[in-house]
Amino acid sequence: MEDPKKIEQNYRQIIELLPENVELVAVSKTHPVEVIRTVYDLGQKVFGENKVQELAEKYPLLPKDISWHLIGHLQRNKVKYIIEFIDTIQSVDSEKLLLEIDRQAKNCNRQVKVLLQVKIAEEESKFGLELHEAKEIFTDWLNGKYPNIEITGLMGMATFTENENQIKKEFNFLKQLYDQLSLKKNLKTLSMGMSGDYQLAIACGANSVRIGSAIFGNRDYIL
Ligand SMILES: *Cc1c(COP(=O)(O)O)cnc(C)c1O
Repeated sequence: MEDPKKIEQNYRQIIELLPENVELVAVSKTHPVEVIRTVYDLGQKVFGENKVQELAEKYPLLPKDISWHLIGHLQRNKVKYIIEFIDTIQSVDSEKLLLEIDRQAKNCNRQVKVLLQVKIAEEESKFGLELHEAKEIFTDWLNGKYPNIEITGLMGMATFTENENQIKKEFNFLKQLYDQLSLKKNLKTLSMGMSGDYQLAIACGANSVRIGSAIFGNRDYIL
């Protein structure tokens, strides 16, 4: 586990560098609740997790004014475990998933915020909607198809590469879609950029970044 002093230093450095209009989602996956509490006590209120079970275990142990974002692939049969408390589901990567979130949200009388995760990376491994799927879903939503959903923006993950031009191209692609959709209905959140590429993402128009290891240190995946 990373030294709390080091985490504090990391966190303060990042906060200082972030432009005011850019939201920080502190990605706390694999890190224990004590460590999350350290960063919470420094003023951070938005945290991201990528696994439902891990999030559902941590949620009751931490302050209730945390806004939890799910950022990892979500299976439809697991939506019910987070629906009551999740602030934003950033990883909507299929229409079926969105329908299930809408259904579960209705059951608990909620409006749930989501981001459409668009596939921008060349890598086969990354989840996400194709461009045309994202556009179709957005239009359907505008036409009232998902009444218990609020689509607040888009999320994307760039290819894992050293090639900055490649990453830039992918971020720019998503920014273009974001601007295009915003003409029909104003979007709030363009979530792109992680520890390794968030400055580039911000330069390309991101107004929300998901930062894990640059705050919490490397993950050892033992938890
Ligand atoms: C883990 C994760 C991050 C954070 O990654 P770091 O490189 O540790 O900052 C961001 N987004 C998603 C979707 C992730 O799964």
